Amino acid sequence: MPTSDLNTKTVVQLRSSLVSGDIRCSDIITSLEEKARRTEAEVKAYVRFDGLKASIYAPQDDKPLSGIPVSVKDNICTEGENTECCSKVLAGFQPPYDATVIKKLREAGAVILGTKTNMDEFAFGSSTENSCFGPSHNPWDLDRVVGGSSGGSAAAVASDEAIIALGSDTGGSIRQPASFCGVVGLKPTYGRVSRYGLIAFASSLDQIGPITKDVGDCALCMNFISGRDPHDSTCAEIEVPDYTKSLGEDIKGVKAAIPKEYFVEGLDPQVKSILYEAINKLKGLGVDIASVSLPHTEYAVPVYYIIATAEASSNLSRFDGVQYGLRAEDKEQGAGNRLVSMYKKTRGEGFGDEAKRRVLLGTFSLSHGYYDAYYLRALKVRTLIKNDFGAVFGDYDCIITPTSPSVAFRIGEKSNDPLKMYLSDIYTISANLAGIPAISVPCGFTKEGLPVGLQILAKPFDESTLFKIAYAYEQSTPWHKMKAKI
Ligand code: GLN
Repeated sequence: MPTSDLNTKTVVQLRSSLVSGDIRCSDIITSLEEKARRTEAEVKAYVRFDGLKASIYAPQDDKPLSGIPVSVKDNICTEGENTECCSKVLAGFQPPYDATVIKKLREAGAVILGTKTNMDEFAFGSSTENSCFGPSHNPWDLDRVVGGSSGGSAAAVASDEAIIALGSDTGGSIRQPASFCGVVGLKPTYGRVSRYGLIAFASSLDQIGPITKDVGDCALCMNFISGRDPHDSTCAEIEVPDYTKSLGEDIKGVKAAIPKEYFVEGLDPQVKSILYEAINKLKGLGVDIASVSLPHTEYAVPVYYIIATAEASSNLSRFDGVQYGLRAEDKEQGAGNRLVSMYKKTRGEGFGDEAKRRVLLGTFSLSHGYYDAYYLRALKVRTLIKNDFGAVFGDYDCIITPTSPSVAFRIGEKSNDPLKMYLSDIYTISANLAGIPAISVPCGFTKEGLPVGLQILAKPFDESTLFKIAYAYEQSTPWHKMKAKI
């Protein structure tokens, strides 16, 4: 295998060359570094890029992921490496411990890259424009966004500056950037993957998951990051199957539901027709397709933006200048005054506009007199949304939808209109509210050459079904092989 293009390969391909002794881990790192040095100036997938900082722990052993470099979103703790959530308030923060997912990957032999991938500040956003380091650029069209908030991870994988990457998904932050960048992204079931060491955005919604070049790598990565963790009580004690066993299983007779609420006004006509082609393809592979209703879909965005901001406002209260990152200079007289003004100045200087908006919205909906009207009601509607899915999954194995109503939009197009930005999450948010797994796989390109994503959702802890269907679809289409010309 020529070593110059190792950066374009999948984990599965690289592992077989590593095992046969054709290549070494350092060849992969060199190839990735060379590529990143060529394209990083334009794509900006990583933050503070100055090489990828590969610390090779056990390069010569033969664990299942030995020699495989993994890129990591800036909100997942990596011991002794900057983990800043792309926020000024966490400038220079280096956690004293690894997140559980990082620990598990290292134990499997993976090489964790110290240079983190770009993201919206604290994962608030859908475009990666809310990063204090500035936006990443879509490898398919550099004037367009990469999606968000795990936009750097998706852009790194799509531009072959990464082999695989980790992201986090609270309302779509793995799937939407995967869709915008033409790669695969999975949000696991809530409780499938430990959140220990993930800097919390909304604790009842957050999940870590993989962003990869194909479905095989996604399944493989899930084998290693899933499973119970004594450090995260929301992480379920449910056995982790070998997800790679689902790859190649026949999908004839699989029952798929198409929710009519997802194919309405607001869906880009090109995305819609590409989706219909994908559905036809699945039919051709033997999948039984039927139309269903998820009647509470229209409430998902408002419910999410109440619950997610309420949890975020509480989670962000710890960033006050005392324990982590930034501490603003302060000149007030008197110890009591000084402390309060230091909090205010640190938070005022440290948080970007979107973070402040979320703290304000969340604090408002939790405040006395509004709690019942907003937060409590939102929780009740969340249950209705969850029940909608439960009812459909009584009769069907999976649900098929677009990942996003549009393709990657232009940088700056929505950044001054938060409502427009929030609406772009319309198809991804419900899976988080219901706690169910969902995957986005590439399913075609628009006339302008921009990738479109197909979303598949399944019952809780039934990631295997997602992999089975996504793999069968992927293997019968050319989309995952397409490369951005950068
Ligand atoms: N775009 C959504 C938001 O802004 C989801 C973000 C995420 O999943 N982290 O909240």
